[in-house]
Amino acid sequence: MNNFDVPLELKQSLEEKDSFILIGHKNPDGDCLSSQLALGSFLKRQGKNVCLISPGPFNRLEIEHQEPYFLSHVPDTWKNIDPLVVVLDCSTIDRIGYLADEIEGMNVAVVDHHDSGMSFGDIHFIRPHAPSVTFLVHKIIESFNMEPNKEEAELLLFGVATDTGFFRHLESGSGEIFQSVAKLTECGASPKEVHSLMYGGRSLKSKQLIGKLLSRTRSEYEGKLILTFETEEDLHDFGKENRDSDAFYQQIQGIKGVEVIVLVRFESNSEISVGLRSKYYADVGSVAKSFGGGGHKKAAGFTWNGPAEEITDKLIKIFSKIL
Ligand code: 5GP
Ligand code: MN
Repeated sequence: MNNFDVPLELKQSLEEKDSFILIGHKNPDGDCLSSQLALGSFLKRQGKNVCLISPGPFNRLEIEHQEPYFLSHVPDTWKNIDPLVVVLDCSTIDRIGYLADEIEGMNVAVVDHHDSGMSFGDIHFIRPHAPSVTFLVHKIIESFNMEPNKEEAELLLFGVATDTGFFRHLESGSGEIFQSVAKLTECGASPKEVHSLMYGGRSLKSKQLIGKLLSRTRSEYEGKLILTFETEEDLHDFGKENRDSDAFYQQIQGIKGVEVIVLVRFESNSEISVGLRSKYYADVGSVAKSFGGGGHKKAAGFTWNGPAEEITDKLIKIFSKIL
């Protein structure tokens, strides 16, 4: 569905219910947490009770400062007051990890912008054409004939900026998105500050880690596929806090002829994470989905419980048919 009107059922529930639990995905990013924070702030302004929950971990540098606002579990006191649970930025229930059990039996609304995953929840505001969930939260606020306050505007701008690589992934026909961004700046959000929150304050080590990844890149199919990997040793030497995948992808996306980028990372002895990006035509979302993960057509990921070499070989074979 292309229109961004807020479904009546969601609007009514937001008006009628008194208490809201807002939940986002594991390994949260700027869009997920900012959607929760901005919607939470807006609902509080409407006199509602709000509980923000994230399964964490808060590994990305640009979102570390948001961690103190989130609980990691549903408090017992919230279990018997019939709240509406709003799950944001998740296409499948497994994205919220152990929290799925904690909200069992509760009324659930899903606000998301991923290509359809395994549908869950009772009320849906799912728009794969939305650049970010914060954009949809902005629509929710406007559906009440209200504007975001300055703090909410800053959060909403941060979400759309992080999910679009500071707008560089937006294509023609994005007028409505820039109209939303224009309003957010009028409400007090600063693109300059968002940019510095996203890309500034990095450590020298994070750049050195990118150097390592760049030095190990492997090129297949005349450079249309570029793969690299982060080892157990890197994880030990640099730590997850020095990962900066967006900056890494940005470097590779600038190479002539590249279509797909694969970043394979050691997470633990039993887990490898795989990040996928495409530039124009390859649907990496469906590749990720075929391995139990998900995402968007041009940005997706999954976890792999096996050796890194094995998944690398499999992916090279799969992309021979796509590229
Ligand atoms: P990133 O590579 O930045 O971690 O993720 C890119 C996109 O893929 C995001 O939209 C993210 O939600 C999705 N994604 C990454 N890893 C997974 C995963 O393991 N499962 C699912 N369902 N989606 C993922
Ligand atoms: Mn998102």
